[in-house]
Amino acid sequence: MTVVGKEGKGVPMLSVQPKGRQKGCAGCNRKIKDRYLLKALDKYWHEDCLKCACCDCRLGEVGSTLYTKANLILCRRDYLRLFGTTGNCAACSKLIPAFEMVMRARDNVYHLDCFACQLCNQRFCVGDKFFLKNNMILCQMDYEEGQLNGTFESQVQ
Ligand SMILES: [Zn+2]
Ligand SMILES: [Zn+2]
Ligand SMILES: [Zn+2]
Ligand SMILES: [Zn+2]
Repeated sequence: MTVVGKEGKGVPMLSVQPKGRQKGCAGCNRKIKDRYLLKALDKYWHEDCLKCACCDCRLGEVGSTLYTKANLILCRRDYLRLFGTTGNCAACSKLIPAFEMVMRARDNVYHLDCFACQLCNQRFCVGDKFFLKNNMILCQMDYEEGQLNGTFESQVQ
Protein backbone atom coordinates (compact mmCIF):
# COMPACT_ATOMS: atom_id res chain seq x y z
CA MET A 1 0.00 0.00 0.00
CA THR A 2 1.36 3.38 -0.90
CA VAL A 3 0.30 6.62 0.68
CA VAL A 4 -0.19 9.41 -1.78
CA GLY A 5 -0.55 12.98 -0.62
CA LYS A 6 -2.88 15.17 -2.61
CA GLU A 7 -1.71 18.49 -3.86
CA GLY A 8 -3.76 21.54 -4.53
CA LYS A 9 -3.17 23.60 -7.59
CA GLY A 10 -0.44 26.20 -7.40
CA VAL A 11 -0.77 29.71 -8.73
CA PRO A 12 2.03 30.70 -11.09
CA MET A 13 4.30 33.63 -10.25
CA LEU A 14 6.13 35.56 -12.89
CA SER A 15 9.14 37.72 -12.48
CA VAL A 16 8.70 40.56 -14.94
CA GLN A 17 10.33 43.85 -15.79
CA PRO A 18 7.96 46.71 -15.25
CA LYS A 19 6.76 48.45 -18.37
CA GLY A 20 5.02 51.76 -18.72
CA ARG A 21 3.37 53.24 -15.69
CA GLN A 22 4.74 52.25 -12.30
CA LYS A 23 2.69 49.58 -10.66
CA GLY A 24 1.49 49.62 -7.09
CA CYS A 25 2.43 46.69 -4.90
CA ALA A 26 -0.51 44.62 -3.70
CA GLY A 27 1.37 43.90 -0.48
CA CYS A 28 2.50 47.30 0.79
CA ASN A 29 0.58 49.59 -1.61
CA ARG A 30 3.74 51.49 -2.53
CA LYS A 31 4.97 51.98 -6.04
CA ILE A 32 7.33 49.35 -7.36
CA LYS A 33 10.57 50.95 -8.49
CA ASP A 34 12.63 47.76 -8.61
CA ARG A 35 14.11 46.35 -11.78
CA TYR A 36 11.96 43.27 -11.42
CA LEU A 37 8.59 42.74 -9.92
CA LEU A 38 6.45 39.71 -9.34
CA LYS A 39 3.16 39.18 -11.04
CA ALA A 40 0.80 36.78 -9.33
CA LEU A 41 -2.95 36.52 -8.80
CA ASP A 42 -3.38 39.31 -11.37
CA LYS A 43 -1.54 41.69 -9.07
CA TYR A 44 1.95 43.12 -8.87
CA TRP A 45 4.25 42.71 -5.92
CA HIS A 46 7.68 43.72 -4.67
CA GLU A 47 9.89 40.67 -4.51
CA ASP A 48 10.09 41.36 -0.77
CA CYS A 49 6.36 41.68 -0.30
CA LEU A 50 5.18 38.38 -1.70
CA LYS A 51 5.77 36.22 1.32
CA CYS A 52 4.34 33.09 2.78
CA ALA A 53 1.84 33.93 5.52
CA CYS A 54 3.21 31.10 7.62
CA CYS A 55 6.97 30.95 7.42
CA ASP A 56 7.62 34.40 5.94
CA CYS A 57 9.81 33.05 3.18
CA ARG A 58 10.08 35.08 0.00
CA LEU A 59 7.99 33.14 -2.43
CA GLY A 60 9.85 34.40 -5.47
CA GLU A 61 12.93 32.67 -4.14
CA VAL A 62 11.53 29.27 -3.25
CA GLY A 63 9.79 28.48 -6.50
CA SER A 64 7.59 29.71 -9.28
CA THR A 65 4.31 28.80 -7.70
CA LEU A 66 2.41 29.96 -4.69
CA TYR A 67 -0.64 28.49 -3.05
CA THR A 68 -3.70 30.26 -1.76
CA LYS A 69 -6.43 29.18 0.54
CA ALA A 70 -8.83 31.15 2.71
CA ASN A 71 -7.17 34.47 1.81
CA LEU A 72 -3.77 33.19 2.82
CA ILE A 73 -0.79 33.16 0.52
CA LEU A 74 1.40 30.21 1.29
CA CYS A 75 4.46 28.41 0.08
CA ARG A 76 4.05 24.85 -1.13
CA ARG A 77 5.40 23.34 2.06
CA ASP A 78 3.04 25.19 4.36
CA TYR A 79 0.10 24.68 2.05
CA LEU A 80 0.62 20.95 2.09
CA ARG A 81 1.19 20.94 5.81
CA LEU A 82 -2.02 22.85 6.47
CA PHE A 83 -4.37 21.73 3.74
CA GLY A 84 -2.89 18.69 2.11
CA THR A 85 -3.77 15.17 3.06
CA THR A 86 -1.62 12.50 4.55
CA GLY A 87 -3.43 9.67 2.85
CA ASN A 88 -6.09 7.18 3.75
CA CYS A 89 -6.27 5.58 7.15
CA ALA A 90 -5.40 1.92 6.75
CA ALA A 91 -7.97 0.94 9.36
CA CYS A 92 -11.10 2.92 8.42
CA SER A 93 -10.04 3.91 4.87
CA LYS A 94 -11.08 7.52 5.41
CA LEU A 95 -8.89 10.40 4.27
CA ILE A 96 -6.55 11.91 6.84
CA PRO A 97 -5.97 15.67 6.60
CA ALA A 98 -2.29 16.62 6.68
CA PHE A 99 -2.57 18.69 9.86
CA GLU A 100 -3.92 15.79 11.87
CA MET A 101 -1.65 13.70 14.04
CA VAL A 102 -1.21 10.22 12.67
CA MET A 103 0.33 6.96 13.61
CA ARG A 104 2.60 5.36 11.09
CA ALA A 105 3.46 1.71 10.81
CA ARG A 106 5.60 0.75 7.86
CA ASP A 107 3.85 2.26 4.84
CA ASN A 108 0.52 2.62 6.57
CA VAL A 109 -0.95 5.67 8.26
CA TYR A 110 -3.70 5.62 10.83
CA HIS A 111 -5.90 8.09 12.65
CA LEU A 112 -4.82 8.21 16.28
CA ASP A 113 -8.25 6.89 17.18
CA CYS A 114 -8.00 4.06 14.72
CA PHE A 115 -4.65 2.83 15.87
CA ALA A 116 -5.70 -0.06 18.07
CA CYS A 117 -5.48 -3.79 18.00
CA GLN A 118 -7.95 -4.85 15.38
CA LEU A 119 -8.92 -7.95 17.29
CA CYS A 120 -9.38 -6.77 20.87
CA ASN A 121 -9.43 -2.99 20.30
CA GLN A 122 -6.69 -2.34 22.80
CA ARG A 123 -5.11 1.06 22.26
CA PHE A 124 -1.37 1.48 22.22
CA CYS A 125 0.70 3.93 24.17
CA VAL A 126 4.12 5.21 23.26
CA GLY A 127 6.59 2.38 23.73
CA ASP A 128 3.97 -0.35 23.55
CA LYS A 129 4.72 -3.21 21.24
CA PHE A 130 2.44 -3.74 18.31
CA PHE A 131 2.57 -6.04 15.34
CA LEU A 132 1.53 -5.76 11.75
CA LYS A 133 0.33 -8.98 10.30
CA ASN A 134 -1.63 -9.34 7.07
CA ASN A 135 -2.01 -5.57 7.26
CA MET A 136 -3.77 -5.79 10.60
CA ILE A 137 -2.54 -4.07 13.72
CA LEU A 138 -2.27 -6.48 16.59
CA CYS A 139 -1.34 -6.30 20.20
CA GLN A 140 1.34 -8.62 21.43
CA MET A 141 -1.14 -11.04 22.98
CA ASP A 142 -3.26 -11.46 19.86
CA TYR A 143 -0.18 -11.71 17.72
CA GLU A 144 1.32 -14.45 19.80
CA GLU A 145 -1.97 -16.29 20.04
CA GLY A 146 -2.35 -16.12 16.28
CA GLN A 147 1.14 -17.46 15.81
CA LEU A 148 0.39 -20.38 18.11
CA ASN A 149 -2.87 -21.24 16.40
CA GLY A 150 -1.40 -20.82 12.97
CA THR A 151 -4.15 -18.30 12.12
CA PHE A 152 -1.86 -16.07 10.10
CA GLU A 153 -0.13 -18.68 8.08
CA SER A 154 -3.36 -19.72 6.38
CA GLN A 155 -3.98 -16.19 5.15
CA VAL A 156 -2.50 -14.62 2.09
CA GLN A 157 0.27 -12.19 2.93
ZN1 LIG B 1 5.51 46.00 -1.65
ZN1 LIG C 1 5.84 29.00 4.08
ZN1 LIG D 1 -9.17 5.88 10.62
ZN1 LIG E 1 -5.38 -7.42 20.81
